[in-house]
Amino acid sequence: MIKYVRYKMENLISYGVLDQERVKEISSNPFEKYDFTGKEYSVSDVNLIAPVSPSKIVAIGLNYSSHLDGREAPEVPEAFYKVPSSLIGPEDSIIIPKEVLENSLSIQPEAELAVVISKNCRRVAKDNAMDYILGFTCGNDVSVRPWQKNDLQWWRAKSSDTFAPLGPVIVSELEHDNLRLQARINGKVVQDQNTSDLIHNVPSIIEFVSSVVTLNPGDVIMTGTPGSPGDIKDGDIVEVEIDGIGVLRNYVKNESR
Ligand code: MG
Repeated sequence: MIKYVRYKMENLISYGVLDQERVKEISSNPFEKYDFTGKEYSVSDVNLIAPVSPSKIVAIGLNYSSHLDGREAPEVPEAFYKVPSSLIGPEDSIIIPKEVLENSLSIQPEAELAVVISKNCRRVAKDNAMDYILGFTCGNDVSVRPWQKNDLQWWRAKSSDTFAPLGPVIVSELEHDNLRLQARINGKVVQDQNTSDLIHNVPSIIEFVSSVVTLNPGDVIMTGTPGSPGDIKDGDIVEVEIDGIGVLRNYVKNESR
């Protein structure tokens, strides 16, 4: 099991491997052959950023029974895109857009297991899906509910700036199909489920998504969210925690006027 991080140090972005509390810099990135450069830091001294820079983020909707709320379970994974510009890292702020504030719209976090792709692939059979996965991280599919419900496309409901928190680490070789997944708002648990409850599991999702689009190294697939998380507001602290990965913590702030 390897824990990959991406961090910013003196304006340089590097990848590293987290070993206990030490970040060990690697020469390239986790998708290529790399060496350790010999530089290492205490994790508390580096600024961890989103652990990858994906060419696309695919997200799966309606993938836990507890989130269906009367809706039919989709026959194939219900995929949509979140744009890479919505990505933020651990400890960054989720900014509530002023249109959401002015109209008192419901905005919610969604705790999700996120898969990071390791190499180019197209039409992957589910039996081989694990060969194309670098590892897993925590994702938060921030959503504005009225935009999700009323717009034809989900572009602003799911892809406004800061609506895709990801991190803090990518963990390889994780038993991804039996992990406790939680979301907390200000320490209160609002989502709590096991990834064994996914309707379409990770290999099936990769088979389906890669039958449509080529997946590239670093691409992210968010696998869906359970239950009904509550609303978030200015000043809240949102945490997504997954067993074996850690805690993705973000702060909620109103867009400044
Ligand atoms: Mg979602």
